[in-house]
Amino acid sequence: MSEPRASDQLRPLAVVGGGLAGMAAALALAERGHKVELFEQNQCLGGRVGSFRDALTGERIDRCMHVGLGCCTRLLEFIRRTGVEDRFAKHRRLNFIGPAGEVCRFQPWPWLPAPLHLVPGLARLRYLGPRDRLGIARGMLRLGRLAPGRPSGARTIAGWLRAEGQSEAAIDRFWSVLLVSALGETVQRAGLAMARKVVLDGFLRSRRGCELFLPKVPLGEIFDRPMNDRLRQLGVEVHLGTRARAIEISAGRCRAIVLSGGKRRRIGGLVVAVPWRQISRLFSPRQRPLLSPDWKADRLEPAAITAVHLWFDRAITSLPHAVLVGRTSQWMFRPLAKPSPTPHGGHYIQIVISASHRLAAQPRGRLVERVCDELASIWPAARQARLLHHRVVTEREAVFSVTPESDSFRPAPRIAVPNIVLAGDWTDTGWPATMEGAIRSGWQAGLSLD
Ligand SMILES: Cc1cc2nc3c(=O)[nH]c(=O)nc-3n(C[C@H](O)[C@H](O)[C@H](O)COP(=O)(O)OP(=O)(O)OC[C@H]3O[C@@H](n4cnc5c(N)ncnc54)[C@H](O)[C@@H]3O)c2cc1C
Repeated sequence: MSEPRASDQLRPLAVVGGGLAGMAAALALAERGHKVELFEQNQCLGGRVGSFRDALTGERIDRCMHVGLGCCTRLLEFIRRTGVEDRFAKHRRLNFIGPAGEVCRFQPWPWLPAPLHLVPGLARLRYLGPRDRLGIARGMLRLGRLAPGRPSGARTIAGWLRAEGQSEAAIDRFWSVLLVSALGETVQRAGLAMARKVVLDGFLRSRRGCELFLPKVPLGEIFDRPMNDRLRQLGVEVHLGTRARAIEISAGRCRAIVLSGGKRRRIGGLVVAVPWRQISRLFSPRQRPLLSPDWKADRLEPAAITAVHLWFDRAITSLPHAVLVGRTSQWMFRPLAKPSPTPHGGHYIQIVISASHRLAAQPRGRLVERVCDELASIWPAARQARLLHHRVVTEREAVFSVTPESDSFRPAPRIAVPNIVLAGDWTDTGWPATMEGAIRSGWQAGLSLD
């Protein structure tokens, strides 16, 4: 019934979606010698990892800064393989800014074995009392030792931390700070298992796990043109501005896709690398049972991330990045060391706020005011600085929310149609919605599609 026909093998394999998952799938397929066509509805590659040109300053800025960590091994391999590694800067030190504005440099010690390498860094978080710091070290070890999948009573990470006797100060000023940005969700809602993974991979398993990899240029200059060039070099046909509208399945196999404009492309196999909320547009109601009789991905909830882009008339800090503790602003990035050359530009910084759904009702102007007040309370130069221009970008469906249930809603990549594989950060990768998860899923899809 579902045997491949000889003609299937001569037809190209299609990848729908040109985000990281789709690009990784196309790369894996092309490297295995397949003829590949990639279809992306936008005019650029990268999906959620992208930049835009600010109308006033003319500068290309990221919709939101994307941070890679040392534990994101597939991401690092991907950027090496595609020749864009030099567009990232590695930072060994995390600059925590305590509630009174004190800078606490958290740097794992390279000559101590994991997890002892964390001790000097934790000791430097002076805004926490010694008991809290000791409690955090103990909590990290206990979290790492929890058997995966073993019910612990608590389902959310906040529930577990409280049951472990972590103080509210430690939860607010350490655990929340760390986990909200890594998971894109508040500790009150985030599941215990995914929080455990972040702590294990990022902090306990290796001395390198929490190194930061920050882009030195706008994300579009990393993941759009260079990736397009690399894929084309490998023979991949990249179709930008081309939306897949429907999938044709007959005799148990995918035979074709229908593209925007009604054109039909016959294909030998398909990687579907679109976000979870777009799946139901591609698979008709009649085809949906083929995804899985028990399809639950519709139950994944979105979580928002907000980036506040600010241009000041002077430099307000020399730090390239900072973790802002106990404030609405969570991370500060200063990706461009130099001021913008344009008359409206100035000194650019970006503030990132994860799990920002709770701010949705707040007018943008008030959010900008609050962020600027927070910066002024940290850096004296910000008190004198004039804000030349600002933009607030909120991605309401930035990531899926890693609730205690979310893992049970994430589908396996294989579906009932043998020559279709699903990919994307929302599939069952074992990772939260990250570049690493997307690349892992895409790469695996590319290796498993026949
Ligand atoms: C604001 C924000 C901040 C983030 N910060 C970080 C971070 O710091 N670190 C980190 O690791 N991760 C971060 N992430 C998460 C990361 O961006 C995603 O996990 C990852 O990019 C997802 O890649 P993907 O390929 O699975 O999906 P996407 O990037 O969404 O790609 C899917 C692609 O499919 C295309 N598409 C959809 N339907 C069709 C169709 N019918 N036909 C053709 N094309 C179609 C879309 O246009 C899109 O390009 C952040 C995300 C956001 C939004």
